[in-house]
Amino acid sequence: MSSFQKGRRSFLRAAGSSLVAAGTVAGLGASPAQAAQHKAVTQTKETQAAMTPEMALQMLKDGNERFVQGKMLERDHMQQVKATGAGQFPFAAIVGCIDSRESATLTFDQGIGDVFAARIAGNFVNDDLLGSLEFACAAAGAKLILVVGHSECGAIKGACDDVVLGNLTQTLANLKPAVAAVSGFESDRTSANAKFVQAVAEKNVELTIQRIRQRSSILNDLADKGQIDIAGAMYDVHTGRVAFM
Ligand SMILES: [Zn+2]
Repeated sequence: MSSFQKGRRSFLRAAGSSLVAAGTVAGLGASPAQAAQHKAVTQTKETQAAMTPEMALQMLKDGNERFVQGKMLERDHMQQVKATGAGQFPFAAIVGCIDSRESATLTFDQGIGDVFAARIAGNFVNDDLLGSLEFACAAAGAKLILVVGHSECGAIKGACDDVVLGNLTQTLANLKPAVAAVSGFESDRTSANAKFVQAVAEKNVELTIQRIRQRSSILNDLADKGQIDIAGAMYDVHTGRVAFM
């Protein structure tokens, strides 16, 4: 053995012991199982089958907490690409706005193959999105639909201000029921009133959940049987925090 190899070996031994020591300190004596929790699990047929709607909701709550704390799980995205290429087993479907500041995967600290993401300005549902959600839950096995609105939503502001602009006019028409359903704020019912905009965004999440149940008998039945949950939340673009409703 050359002196280089000997040196390299002892370096690796030393590095290994310092890594173990660092791990013990960082994990405060965490067991191997606890240490493994810092690594993301790629969803499989088995993990999806074992998931309940309650667990799925908790996974997203925990994920957002990690995101806010800056303690995201370790993820090898290309390894996840390889692991999910032959089949996907996501545990949730997230209906969100197209807003660039929110992301179904980043803000909930999820990876490849974890969640379906349906995105549309103002996070409402139409027939095509309902079909997409039926695929996600009835065909592909997701256990949760989470409708996520957000603060400072441009689409909601546009609906409050009756913006007219090409195809967007029709898109915003889908948000008008939420504007109409929020009473009060008589002094200012425009986008200049931040509290009014936030109230409309929250009402829009509530109405979207109602619309999913009213317009999709498939999803409504799955929810009634407890096989899926349909829940709502609001994302705060200032803090990264998701408030579950
Ligand atoms: Zn938005």
